[in-house]
Amino acid sequence: MPGLRNSMSLSSLSSMDRPDMARMFDLSLASLTHIPPSRRSSTASLQPQRPGPEDGRRMRGVELSNDELARPDVKPPVINSKKKKRRKHNITANLSGTRYDIVRQMVEKVGFSVAKDDDPLSYLIWSDCFVSTDRVSELKPFQRLNHFPGMGEISRKDCLARNMGKMQKSFPEEYNFIPRTWILPADYGLLQNHAKDMRAKKKTKTFIVKPANGAQGHGISLFRNAEKIPPSEHFIVQEYIDKPLLLDGYKFDLRVYVLITSCDPLRIFLFNDGLVRLATEKYLPPQESNVNHLFMHLTNYSVNKHNEFYKRNTGNDTGSKRSIRYFNEYLRNSDIDVALLWRNIADMITKTLIVAEPHVLHAYRMCRPGVPSYSDSVCFEVLGFDVMIDRKLRPWLIEINRSPSFGTDEKLDFDIKSALIEDTFRLLNVKASDKRRNIAAQKAEAQKRLLRTHKKVEQGEQTEMDKKRQSLEKRKDELRDLLTKIRKASSGEDFENRNCGRFRRIFPCDDRARHAKYCTMLASSFSLFLSGRGATMKKEIEVNYNNKLREDDVLDMLAECEAEEKDGKMFIGPQGRGMREPRPLQSMPESIANFPEEDEEDEGSDEDTPPTTPALNGRVRSARLATRLNSGTQRPPSYRSASDTSRPPSEATTLRGPARPQSQVSLVNGTRPRSLSRGGGGAGGGGAGTNTSNNRNVSQIRSSVDDSFLSSLVKEREEELTKKTLTSLNEMRIKFPGKTDSEAELLLDKMNENWKFHKPRIASYWLVKLDSIKRRKVVDIVRSNVKAVLQRIWHSSDVDNLRLCRIFSRVFNRLLWSHGQGLWNCFSPATGNSWETIFSRSTELVSEMEMNCCRRIVQLCRDCLLIVYQFATEAKSGSAPHAPPAPGEDNSLVLQAQNGYLGGRDVKGPNQWNPHTFSQRYSKLYSGRVTETGS
Ligand code: ADP
Repeated sequence: MPGLRNSMSLSSLSSMDRPDMARMFDLSLASLTHIPPSRRSSTASLQPQRPGPEDGRRMRGVELSNDELARPDVKPPVINSKKKKRRKHNITANLSGTRYDIVRQMVEKVGFSVAKDDDPLSYLIWSDCFVSTDRVSELKPFQRLNHFPGMGEISRKDCLARNMGKMQKSFPEEYNFIPRTWILPADYGLLQNHAKDMRAKKKTKTFIVKPANGAQGHGISLFRNAEKIPPSEHFIVQEYIDKPLLLDGYKFDLRVYVLITSCDPLRIFLFNDGLVRLATEKYLPPQESNVNHLFMHLTNYSVNKHNEFYKRNTGNDTGSKRSIRYFNEYLRNSDIDVALLWRNIADMITKTLIVAEPHVLHAYRMCRPGVPSYSDSVCFEVLGFDVMIDRKLRPWLIEINRSPSFGTDEKLDFDIKSALIEDTFRLLNVKASDKRRNIAAQKAEAQKRLLRTHKKVEQGEQTEMDKKRQSLEKRKDELRDLLTKIRKASSGEDFENRNCGRFRRIFPCDDRARHAKYCTMLASSFSLFLSGRGATMKKEIEVNYNNKLREDDVLDMLAECEAEEKDGKMFIGPQGRGMREPRPLQSMPESIANFPEEDEEDEGSDEDTPPTTPALNGRVRSARLATRLNSGTQRPPSYRSASDTSRPPSEATTLRGPARPQSQVSLVNGTRPRSLSRGGGGAGGGGAGTNTSNNRNVSQIRSSVDDSFLSSLVKEREEELTKKTLTSLNEMRIKFPGKTDSEAELLLDKMNENWKFHKPRIASYWLVKLDSIKRRKVVDIVRSNVKAVLQRIWHSSDVDNLRLCRIFSRVFNRLLWSHGQGLWNCFSPATGNSWETIFSRSTELVSEMEMNCCRRIVQLCRDCLLIVYQFATEAKSGSAPHAPPAPGEDNSLVLQAQNGYLGGRDVKGPNQWNPHTFSQRYSKLYSGRVTETGS
């Protein structure tokens, strides 16, 4: 069979090249039944090896890990000033995951230094392979990794075709740049029908068959007759573009480089150069006689370099690989509108990434829960878009490489790729000070959250005034967030404009009309791929991309809030309310670009710290006061009493000024926190130039007393709440619509007893039948209910930033890992606990109680899958409950918590719901609200 012959010859041709490793990671599923651990381990071995905890320990001889520094009870070691000087501006890059020397050369060119291979805390991590979501979750906020999670949705050929196909339905006119594609074996019938139609019209089309996850031309074959295409698994079939634009009589494609610096919000840059890759046999329209001529029909360098006629580029752009610059010049000389062509290419790239955005953003947020938009992205990605141009100068998207080759076989490669990498590094805006600032910010944020919770618990019943004050505080917080967003957006844009080098930004787009169109598409893409969340995302798109509010408007609104607060009513009341005056707005978060550059001596500064809470709970207040009295120091200017009359006329005015924001830590301690490392020699002086070293020692001791008191308070509180969370999780049950809890429990027991029978069926359901969105929805049933538990116990609506929530998030991600393989592994006695390795390899220590919470969550997810599966099966066979739900009472498949979980709300009876179609049923399942059948 010609197809097979072609595959064979291609495979052997390019056997010398390593296949694109990135794609191989996505291959780990593909089995109906449970994959035995022995086989899975071969897949796992492809994962880039990350240093285990022992590596972190090894490092500790030199310096403390971030986690240790973040722990308030661990003091940083004394570092002499000489050492500090040397470390100044030391941005490190871990390049152990790349085989390309050009990356190292560019790292050094831009002034970064190459870290040891086992350094997990480098600022920059460059890997040729896609890395796991765990790795993304573990990244510290100052780190940058060159891959986004979720990008497989456009870099795998079958996923790209599936996603584009969906978008095409909504925007047929806009999404017409991908050749018509069939995914085998599912679309085999459609393909054959299409071929019949063609035959009836007496048209002969050529088809190109490619492995769904292939690369470098491996396994590709051409067919003139679609009937001869075998219905193989994991292949796609595409209409062959048979009238390509030719260069010197050769077919060619363009390798266009695109940089994504952030997905939250989306920022896309197009590099102004790239490669033109020519075939090495003159092009002839496909005929039965030439379909096997791979050097004629494929333009891959990895294929054509094996042809004796392959011509190296010798500098005058005559070889089989040329530059896009040369190509543009060539087109100009042929009177072709080059600007229009590139507008169309940029448009195609933007639209493609709009399709990827919901997947990428969702995956990113799952890995980085609670991180607000406009925070520095820990991921970036250089994508290689393969574009073909047809004779009508229409660009076609052939594929997207998430690990484009950085090989430099020819000088041309080096010239283009070195510029690309260098400009990428410059656009990332990595600063040596990021590490320290982020550590301080994280610490302050954790304390703020815990102390705020503590206050609520102690106060019990709230008065009207409390509620009013809280809502005002909330409004102010929202405005501050908005202000931070606006400032970050504008300073980020300034930075980009100054540092984009040979990149140009294509999204957000400067052309207003075009930008508005992209926003519409983005909104549709969110509704399409994140059903149930489209509406929320629409609002986000409004704020992130269409924001009409300016900084001044927000400042005015904030000033109004301040004025309302200042009328005094808010702060009169029992229990020494006088202490709860509003903090001055010096604590307003500032945009990064407004911070002064790295000042190594200002070790304790924490400009990036989030806004402080206006009032601390009683215990902390008294501790602070006691400390202040003991030390006899002045109250810091940023902490004012209600009687202070010397407020600036408008807080907004303060905000506009250059005043440095103060952190919560500094408010609590009364001074800026200092590191003990500055105590001994006092070399280099401190921030307060007038302090004597004695004074410094006093303030350091006071600061450390406060700090350790706060730390123990926070720790104690955290343990108590974690314990409560565990109790609540243990009480949660998965609800089977129409069945009582004991019936559901019995059902689960039976399924477990009959596991041999159920195993292949459930595997087929979970791993094959459900796509990634539906799998996520199953896990989301548990996730959303766990979140509700956290909100209730931790007294916060915003729990995403909780350490515990972040830990849970990693577990949920792990369960969805490798197309659901993560959860499936949990059903096997051999691999049931394998998910726990996400913590054993991590630099973050997880307590036994936290682990127990995670174990319970895994159990709930297992139960949830069994019940969803059983319900779907019963619904299909007609034995599931069919009474239609009353409007608004569609509470199918919810978790029930006994013993007062979410107590106080209406208690509803067992759910009943009429499953119509699978998708309807599923959307209902997902949107099902939490009800409490227990009280
Ligand atoms: P791989 O990932 O294996 O490189 P591609 O999809 O990039 O697979 O295809 C390899 C080459 O085959 C492309 O560079 C292009 O020259 C050719 N090709 C792929 N799809 C088409 C198509 N639909 N029409 C014409 N040529 C194609």
